Formats: sequence, structure tokens, C-alpha cells
Amino acid sequence: MSDAARIRTLPADVVNRIAAGEVVERPASVVKELVENALDAGARRVQVEVEEGGRRLIRVSDDGHGVSALDMERLFTAHSTSKLSDVDDLLHIGTFGFRGEALASIGAVSRATVRSRVRGEASGHQVACEFGAVSPPRPAASPEGTAVEVRDLFRNVPARLKFLKSPAAEMARVTEVVSRFGISVPDAEFVLVHEGRPVLRFPAGMGRRDRIALAFGRNLKDALLTAEGQGAGVSVECDLAPPAVTRADTTGLLFFLNGRFVRDKALLHAVRQAYADLIFGPRHPVAFVYLSMDPALVDQNVHPAKVEVRFRDSSSVHALVSRTVREALTRADLARPVALAPGTVPEVDGADRERRVREAVADFLARRPRTDPPAGGGLFPSGLAGGGRPAAGGPAGRAVDFLQVRNTYIVLETDRGIEILDQHALHERVLYDRLRARAQAAGPVVQRLLRPVVVELAAPEVEAVLASKEALAAVGVLVEAFGRGAVAVGGIPAALVAADPAEVLLGLLPSLSEEGGPSGEALRARLLSTMACKAAVKAGDPLTREQVADLLRCAEELAHAHTCPHGRPTALRIDYAALERHFERK
Ligand code: ADP
Ligand code: MG
Repeated sequence: MSDAARIRTLPADVVNRIAAGEVVERPASVVKELVENALDAGARRVQVEVEEGGRRLIRVSDDGHGVSALDMERLFTAHSTSKLSDVDDLLHIGTFGFRGEALASIGAVSRATVRSRVRGEASGHQVACEFGAVSPPRPAASPEGTAVEVRDLFRNVPARLKFLKSPAAEMARVTEVVSRFGISVPDAEFVLVHEGRPVLRFPAGMGRRDRIALAFGRNLKDALLTAEGQGAGVSVECDLAPPAVTRADTTGLLFFLNGRFVRDKALLHAVRQAYADLIFGPRHPVAFVYLSMDPALVDQNVHPAKVEVRFRDSSSVHALVSRTVREALTRADLARPVALAPGTVPEVDGADRERRVREAVADFLARRPRTDPPAGGGLFPSGLAGGGRPAAGGPAGRAVDFLQVRNTYIVLETDRGIEILDQHALHERVLYDRLRARAQAAGPVVQRLLRPVVVELAAPEVEAVLASKEALAAVGVLVEAFGRGAVAVGGIPAALVAADPAEVLLGLLPSLSEEGGPSGEALRARLLSTMACKAAVKAGDPLTREQVADLLRCAEELAHAHTCPHGRPTALRIDYAALERHFERK
């Protein structure tokens, strides 16, 4: 046997470099590990300074309990931790770190220095590690707390260095990481500085919602809905953006388990499912979900960076989260209040629609309400001068009196303000809910086509369709392979016979590319919303007053009357308070 084939134990520096590949992927992962260490040390103030997106320098300073002179020696030794002493500790982990890998990994691929002074001691120490070579600790001046400096990250691992993106792109990741800590640890102060410029600052007294607004957009602050739920050994709290606020990716969907940011497919799916028929197309909701659970019910040690976890009972966590989010969305008043001051209309998707609605309001305000004849021929109709007419009580207090504007909008007086409805979106919503109730009661009735319709698709689309064959059949769409670059549709839901089968299938494509395969729920929601959209009255269709009244009555009974199944809003509200401010009545 040749020498090369013998089993050898790898030297520690090689082991550390291999481990570094798992723990330290990019500057943002270094920042994550160092901030976690600071928080584990009880820090209340954490400052992160970065140069060149982290490639040149990352410095994390904290006011935690510090590192003793004795411990300094072991900082960069692999599997050295102060946070675990026996195996049982693994079952109830209360700290971010416990594997003792981060500093050893970081020291293996950078020039790292730790400077620290234990709280209450007179002097401090420092220790350095250059690409795996540790130099002995020596006394050094240091404020109380710890500062870890990481320079020239990956200089000795060219493959990693090549894989880094531009400083701006790496900085964006770092900012995401610091934002997450800011949101999950709202009582600590976080400061992020890039090239000497402050990028983000969460002061200690700043609450969670303000931090979310700072990191994810001002428009969220007043729009966030809260929700709470309880399960066996688990409780969940959420800050949820209304369905009208969405993102093209999942960066606005954050999960925290006992304060730790985690990524989990089941949790992601649970929230998506709750929003499924309120959001249109390949957009994603914005939601923050905080789980507290008995650490014994979850394995946190399945991933080197500890971002993935394994729940003992994943399906009950899924059910709890999905139910909690869904209930909050159902309860919420999703009509969008609009601000009247110029330039302060909430920044949400569909700015164009918002503009059209505003024009319609202007149009409305410029006209006399048809339903309100001028009193005694005076200049002001009675309804506009002074107190106004009492609202005619419709079901649940909604006024039955309304104004139709441009055959598109319906303007109503309600308890809280003036509400403007989009007739198409509202009708679509009403139809959708009816179709859905019917579909749930009966399941899909399939109409087989006399001759299958061949639909040409791109190769990945063919793959996606065929891979989802069963899910599609479950909602009444039957597909078969049809050679290269095409599939054959052999049946569609009976309720859609009037539709073009190719269009039905094409309409479902975006749902098929969902991570982890399409959910039956998403496919159903998309089919039903196509059906509802096709059947609903359009903007500009004249409606009789009876038809509008009928529509409003139906809408009263809806749980989600405030968004159409495409997730666009159906209603916009001008609160009386806003009107009063605008007219300087208060
Ligand atoms: P882990 O966090 O898993 O214990 P690390 O490699 O991240 O492993 O850190 C090793 C040890 O160094 C920690 O257990 C802790 O005792 C000490 N340490 C690291 N950073 C700090 C800090 N900022 N303040 C105080 N102690 C620290
Ligand atoms: Mg650590």
C-alpha cells in the first residue's frame, strides 16, 4: 500500500480551514458570529464597523463582560467554548453560540485580533491570529468589553475571495444581518458604520416596530398588524405587513426562534399559505414571526451556522403559525387609510392605481353628490355644511347610500371615514369567495376535452408542469407529456369550460416554480382568481344602483373584502381625522 493511501489525522490548521468554509461564507457571516458573541457576553451596545464591504476590515466592539486573560489563550482554539460544559447543555441552549467554532474559523482565514478588558478590571489584553497562527496574549489598553477586528478576510483562500461580490453587495448582506439583530434584540443598541459613515443606528430605546420601519421602509410602521398565538410548548408573535405591501423576494420574511434568526421551509410555507389568496403572482409577503419555545422541542445543532433548526413537531408549529397569521389577516381592516397631505401617500405597490383613485376623489369633491339635493337652494347642500346627514344604517353600520364615480369607483360614507371602492376588484373578490366556498364543498369537477390542447412551453416550464402533474390534477387540470417543448392539456375544471385551456395552464405557471413544489392551496387560489377576474364587472362597466347595492351587501359578508384575490386593494379609506386635519378643523 502506498503512503498516500494511509489514513492520517489532519493537522488542526487544515481542520479549521475546512470548518471555516462552513461557518464563514462571506463578510456578513463574520458579522453574524461576532455580534452573536457580543450578545452572548451580555452586551447592551454593539458597534459594527466595516470597510470595503468587509473584505478589508470588520470590527465589532461591545460592552459585554469581556474575556479574562486566561481565556484569551483559548479564544482561537477550535471547539473551545465557555457556553457548554456537558452534553445535557445541548438540550437547553440559551446562548447563540455553543460549538466553539466561530473564532477558530475566522482566525484561520484572516488576520484577526481580539482586545478585551473584563468589566471592573484595571487593564486589558489582546491576542492575535494570523491565518491560523496564534500569537500569545499580551497586555493591551482596552475599554471594558471586547473588540474583535478581522482584516484581509480570505486573503489565504483565493477561491473564496473570488466568490465574493462587490463591496456594495456584501455590504447589503451585512446590513441585513445587523437589521435582523436590531429587530430580534430590541433592548440593545446597534450601530453599523461603513467606510466611516453611519449606515444604520438602532438606539437602545427604539422599539421593535420602529426598527422594522427603519430597516424595511417607513410605510410599514403604521401598517403593521400584530398577531399572537399559543400551542403546546410554543408561542408565536407576529408583525405582519398588509397584503398590499409585498416584495419580489423573501427578504422581508423573517423568522426568529427564541431570539435567533432562523430559516425554515415549513415556517416559510406556513406564512405564504396564510397570505396565499391575498397576494398576486410571484410576490412575497412581508412578515416578522417570533417563536418562543421550550429549547427541548427543537434541535438547534443541525447547521454549522445554526441558521437551520429541526422542530420535534414541525407540523404543529406550521399549523400554529399559519392559523395565527391567517386569523390576523382576516380580522384586520385592510382598507388603506390615505394621507391627504401632499407627498405622503403611503408608498406601496400600484402607485398608478393610487393616483387614479386620488384623481377620482378630486373629481368627486369637485362635484355635488347626486343623492343630496341642495337645501332650500342655498349655496351649500345640507350634507356638506356643518354636521352632515346621519349615515343610513346598512348592514353592520355601513351606509347604503353611495356615489358612483366614472363607472369605476363607489364612494361610501362609513363610521370611520369616506371609503372608495373599486367595483371590479370588489366584484372579483365577491365572486372569488363564492367560487372558493363552492370548490371546497364539492372538489373540482373536471371537464375532459374532446381533443387535448397542445401548449408549447420552454423546456424548464415543461419540466415544472410535468413535475406538478398530480398537484394540477388535484385542482382539475389534466396534463400529459407531449414530446419536446410541449404538453397536452386533456381536461380543465368544469367551471372554466368557457376559458382557453392553454390560458388556464399558462396562468398557473408562476405558482409551479414555487420553492418546494406548488401547494394545492396556491394553485386553487390562482385558478379561482382567474375565474373570478374573467367573470367580474370591469372598470367602466355601468352598474345600476341596485347592482351596486347588491355588491355592497355581498361584500359586507366577506372576510377579505379589502383586497381582491390578486392582492390589489379593493378599498381606500380617508379617515375623518385626516379630513379634519386637512380642513384645519382641529
Ligand atoms: P462559541 O460562541 O460557540 O462559544 P466562539 O468561537 O464564537 O464560540 O467563541 C469562543 C469563546 O470566546 C466563547 O465561548 C466566549 O467565551 C469567548 N468570546 C468570544 N467573543 C466574545 C466577546 N465578544 N465577549 C466575551 N467573550 C467572547
Ligand atoms: Mg460564537
